Amino acid sequence: MKLEEGLGDWRRTHYSIQITPAIDGKKVTIFGWVSSIRTQGGIVFVMVTDRDGSVQVTVNKGKASPSTLERVEALKPHSSIAVRGTVKSMPRAPNGAEVVPEEVRILSVATEAPSFSVYGGETPSLDKRLDIRAVDLRRDKAQTTFKVQRAVLSATREFLSGAGYLEVRTPKLISTATEGGASLFSVLYYNRPSFLAQSPQLYKEELVLPFEKVYEIGPVFRAEESRTQRHLSEITSIDIEEAFVDYHDVMDTLESLVRGVVSSVRASCAKDVERLGRSLPELPERFERLEYKDVVERLAAQGEGISWGDDLTGPATERLGKEHPSFYFVTDWPTQAKPFYIKPRDDDPKVSESFDLMFGPLELASGGSRVSSKTLLVKRLKEQKLKPQAFEHHLKVFDYGMPPHAGFGLGLERLTMVLAGEENIREVVLYPRDKLRLTP
Ligand code: ATP
Ligand code: MG
Repeated sequence: MKLEEGLGDWRRTHYSIQITPAIDGKKVTIFGWVSSIRTQGGIVFVMVTDRDGSVQVTVNKGKASPSTLERVEALKPHSSIAVRGTVKSMPRAPNGAEVVPEEVRILSVATEAPSFSVYGGETPSLDKRLDIRAVDLRRDKAQTTFKVQRAVLSATREFLSGAGYLEVRTPKLISTATEGGASLFSVLYYNRPSFLAQSPQLYKEELVLPFEKVYEIGPVFRAEESRTQRHLSEITSIDIEEAFVDYHDVMDTLESLVRGVVSSVRASCAKDVERLGRSLPELPERFERLEYKDVVERLAAQGEGISWGDDLTGPATERLGKEHPSFYFVTDWPTQAKPFYIKPRDDDPKVSESFDLMFGPLELASGGSRVSSKTLLVKRLKEQKLKPQAFEHHLKVFDYGMPPHAGFGLGLERLTMVLAGEENIREVVLYPRDKLRLTP
């Protein structure tokens, strides 16, 4: 007998979640993957798992047709199958009902079993799982993580479009580094050198001229030398840029966006997250806004060996995160620590109109008011040892009435880590890229 058959005219009538006592007696066609097979007495129990969960298919050896029996006995876990049969109430089965098959089709025989259990049991090392990521993603935890991410994305789009931002797409193949040469991937563009964009920064700023309020959800590429739990080489960035506002305004926007996203994820995914023994973060009354200078002063007083001008990293951020375990901003960073396009404060140019959004010790977003004066922009480029000629096209735009503007870049993966409760950023990306991994 040929075991594998085609789909033919069979089409799914029900997902697993729809097989309930309410449709007792109904003829259904289900599709999915065999997650377990167990024989007890004269009965074979086959669990068929689909996108939404599992259905128990119960085959009575004494009653089933020879062709059904033959197929069921040949089944191996992970094979994809189709079952036509009748729904029967069964309190002990998932969702309280099972399917008694009349016909079974084996669509694809699994010739291999993964070296780890996809359906429960111990979770093996990430590297082992990433090697066969498409199978690994069937795990319950991964399914929930990406359900959360999908909710984050749709809530973000809904919020930003609703607030009048236009979604834009800017080039990812670029000729000039946005913030200097470090951390760029170079690509041969026909016969010329080019780079993968490390941020949509310059384009989104230019686009406030025609559109005033824009956002982009797109890939950014960074050649990160160190391998950490929170850095990847390719990520998705949620960027906004807006004319006629400053950094305080965009902090308000970012806070509202995050609040909207968390509520929306709570509404659609709280049960899934709780089922995994996790919980979504509680939102504070207000996201605190701590000035960088005060943060540094306090950390220094606590013996962190940090002084004004230093970045907040390592043990200093750990301590800060312990004191502020939820969402908060750190504002007014030293100008020297920020890219050339961040606006220095008028009253104290050593300090910039900038902020980071943090969750405990983790940076989620960076933003600020931008320099809108061409003269100042050229000065800032030179201070940062960048060549204004390389930014000629960008600078030209500033001759045409570039308004004051501000914006931020928020890492989709970092936000997903917080909401899905993952410690390692690789868990929240379908196919993570880092210095050691370019496959699958
Ligand atoms: P970090 O200090 O954490 O390396 P950054 O300050 O270099 O980040 P920004 O240039 O401010 O990063 O980018 C804006 C946001 O994009 C960050 O707040 C973060 O959420 C995300 N992000 C940037 N680089 C990475 C990366 N390599 N991996 C994951 N997320 C990143
Ligand atoms: Mg940053």
